Amino acid sequence: MAKLITLFKLLPKAHQLALTLLSLFTLVILMLPSEDALASKQTPTNTKANIDFTEDDLLFARSNPSPLALEARQADSVDADMDTFGNQDLLLNSVQAQIRAKKQQLRAADDDQKNVEYFEVVNGDTLGGLFSRAGLSAKDVFDIANLPLAKKNLLKIIPGEEIAITKSPEGELSEVSYRIDKVSTLVISKNDSGYVEKINTKEIEIRSQYVSAKIKSNFWNAAADAGLSANHIMQLANIFAWDVDFALDLRRNDHFSLIVEQEFADGEFLRNGNILAAEFVNQGERHTAVRYSDGEYYSEAGNSLRKAFLRSPVDFKYVSSNFNPRRLHPVTGQVKAHRGVDYVAAVGTPIKSAGRGKVIEAGYNQFNGNYVFIRHNGTYTTKYLHLTKRNVSRGDSVKQGQIIGTLGRTGRVTGAHLHYEFIVNGVHRNPRTVSLPKSDPIARSEKQKFQRLSQDLMAKLKQNQQVQLASN
Ligand SMILES: [Zn+2]
Repeated sequence: MAKLITLFKLLPKAHQLALTLLSLFTLVILMLPSEDALASKQTPTNTKANIDFTEDDLLFARSNPSPLALEARQADSVDADMDTFGNQDLLLNSVQAQIRAKKQQLRAADDDQKNVEYFEVVNGDTLGGLFSRAGLSAKDVFDIANLPLAKKNLLKIIPGEEIAITKSPEGELSEVSYRIDKVSTLVISKNDSGYVEKINTKEIEIRSQYVSAKIKSNFWNAAADAGLSANHIMQLANIFAWDVDFALDLRRNDHFSLIVEQEFADGEFLRNGNILAAEFVNQGERHTAVRYSDGEYYSEAGNSLRKAFLRSPVDFKYVSSNFNPRRLHPVTGQVKAHRGVDYVAAVGTPIKSAGRGKVIEAGYNQFNGNYVFIRHNGTYTTKYLHLTKRNVSRGDSVKQGQIIGTLGRTGRVTGAHLHYEFIVNGVHRNPRTVSLPKSDPIARSEKQKFQRLSQDLMAKLKQNQQVQLASN
């Protein structure tokens, strides 16, 4: 050691200072906690103490110098001589900069490891109660509850939800955050002039997914087993509601495939989006649908799927015995062709007008029970019998899909059902098979754009179907 000091003394003054500073710097760096060690710390109070400690330590090193530092001190005060050494000035600055940088790193890590506590809303909780558990002052509660976004979102918190509260190392409230939903978080933070609030929104990522199924027992089960949500199942039925009677016309081995959108935020599933394309094969007949940018569905060739009439005035989900076309007639107890179609469902099931038109009759008699007749134009009339309740009166205009009453068992019937008739030019026709006027195709100006989209989506469907076939 003595030799080292002698050697040190032989060095030019500038070098002595440089060495001293370097050793000081090394000492400081060694004494600062590593980032890894810091990252595992839970409370900023400790972190802050560490930083203070290293500052103190630096001072300590200066006032109780090591032999090397003492030499430097004896030669001259570090501070006093800073300006007289050109290179050393740079060196010192660089050392100080490095210490500063190291401290900044620590503070940044500190920010990541803020003193956050999560408070769960319990039964019968109020915002005031929760804040008081969190140790906030009455003034904090008052100030926060008066911010517009906080008022809107925090006052309707429900049990099970969480509010995150961040405090400064001194224990003062610095931030309140509340996850409004999977995408939005309300953040209220304290600054010099009071509280500021904002809503942070995550970016939504849309993924498309292929789904397919073959019907074994009924449509709903097949679709649900394939992973479709209730919402997507109804969407799919509604898309083809003009072409397929989902209540009565589905058969075993009918099959369908579709591409659906799903929304994610940060890899977390948010919600189902639109059905982009679908194919439905019903009793060997293939129907296709492509969603265009106007939100409407067209066949792959570009014909609108909307038609003047729905195939069924009752949603399939209410109708029993999907696969029993030779079901006994609810009136006579015999298998019998009659002038209408019977939908067997629970009393109270909503009945929709199959198309736009005018109510020409709405009344009651002993045979029909409560009934509604709708004239759609000079050619078409539809009739709805045995209702529990009529929602429309004679002379009313109705829209397609409008609920005109509820299914019942009024009139001459043995069980609850809707008797539905479809009359074309005065002749009763089967509403499930009658050919309906073709709907409008996509506008000529949109045709090219639509065709590109349609080809692309249909190719994707086909590709997935083939992959599936190959893997079966
Ligand atoms: Zn009938």
